Amino acid sequence: DRKDIHYFGAGPAPLPTEVLEEASKVLLNYEKKGIGITEISHRSPEANAILASTKSALRTLLSIPDSDGPDGYEILFLQGGGSGEFSATVYHMVSIWVAKQWKHIQNHSHIGVGEDVAIAALRDVVEEKMKLDYLVTGSWSLKASQEAARLVGEEKVNIVADARKHREGGKFGVVPAEDTFTATTDEADCAMTYYCDNETVDGVEFQAPPSGHNLVADMSSNFLSRPIDVKRHAAIFGGAQKNIGTTGVTLAIISKKFLPPHAEMADSKLLRKLGLPVGPVVLDWPTIAKNNSLYNTLPIFDVWIAGQVMERLISLHSDASSAIKGQEDESDKKAGMLYGALDGYPEIYSVVPDMSVRSRMNICVRVKGGHAEAEKAFLKGAEAKGLMGLKGHRSVGGVRISNYNAVPVAAAEKLTAYLEEFAKEQK
Ligand code: PMP
Repeated sequence: DRKDIHYFGAGPAPLPTEVLEEASKVLLNYEKKGIGITEISHRSPEANAILASTKSALRTLLSIPDSDGPDGYEILFLQGGGSGEFSATVYHMVSIWVAKQWKHIQNHSHIGVGEDVAIAALRDVVEEKMKLDYLVTGSWSLKASQEAARLVGEEKVNIVADARKHREGGKFGVVPAEDTFTATTDEADCAMTYYCDNETVDGVEFQAPPSGHNLVADMSSNFLSRPIDVKRHAAIFGGAQKNIGTTGVTLAIISKKFLPPHAEMADSKLLRKLGLPVGPVVLDWPTIAKNNSLYNTLPIFDVWIAGQVMERLISLHSDASSAIKGQEDESDKKAGMLYGALDGYPEIYSVVPDMSVRSRMNICVRVKGGHAEAEKAFLKGAEAKGLMGLKGHRSVGGVRISNYNAVPVAAAEKLTAYLEEFAKEQK
């Protein structure tokens, strides 16, 4: 039964039982309309209300600046997952960079210079100067940087830091010091600086946002687990299926400085002339923003779930502004308990990443230095106690404890007890 199982999978991940109970009702009959939530139009007043209240809850939780001016941030709901946003970020930030350069060239061209000459000048600027800076601290930022290379060419991707080169053994597990970063020297050449706030596969989490021009963050696996310095970012995105809701919807928070009318975008004809990619319209942030995330059919049930999860988080705390801090405290408490048990038995458990960058969300561990039989025995013993989803990512193996928001304190306590029991048995 559900109450006998504690699930620590990395995503999709557990959701609060109360939210799922309510979800099972609204699937059949939404607000006594005699029809279910997945059956109604995404343009109905009901759907609009769901969209508005979910946005508002997210704005409250993360203190997202709400203004029509350039200091405001737009909240978008998209499809295509975190991976879709790997591409969307490139399309968008490249388009903005190109539009800026194009304007500059046009403003400085002599009267009478033909468009072909101006475009040739722009092509030279793109070729010589444009860079996308990536901080590679784990498998997901690596994947994002590879997507950028696929779209715009490897020579335009500047790896600011490759964490594997900063560690003996060549594996991920550190965030390199900023004084080792090789960021693009001239900020004006840097279309974006990309980082992954929490590396789900490698268990590495940033303690604070890195420095970088036009900062873009993937927060798929630690969204809503601590306050965010939104204003430092051009864009933040994440799939919902870990801390926020069900698979099928992706959230993005975009600075209005990077959206029309405050920013100009390069048009598709110009990008094609330069040999730069033109992205699918469903990943185009300005289009999605202009249409209040309803450019095409939005899975409104997924948005509803996310809204319920957020409103529940708010309701569990005395005031909305302390809700995210409360969640952070709870995440710290659960992670502290689990790491404490692991550190208590160094001859049995070794935490993969360095102490200073340990993720509170994904706790990556080797049992007896990666001994296959011992790890198998660990997982088998856990399953017998209803502690599920603990197998490490297929690319790295080992054990991974995903400690997302909906993992109850009681589940972390039960797993902590098992960690101790298993270790004692091995001695
Ligand atoms: N970024 C991170 C940090 C992730 O953990 C994941 C998925 N586990 C992704 C991106 C990719 O997300 P999706 O599967 O939704 O495309």
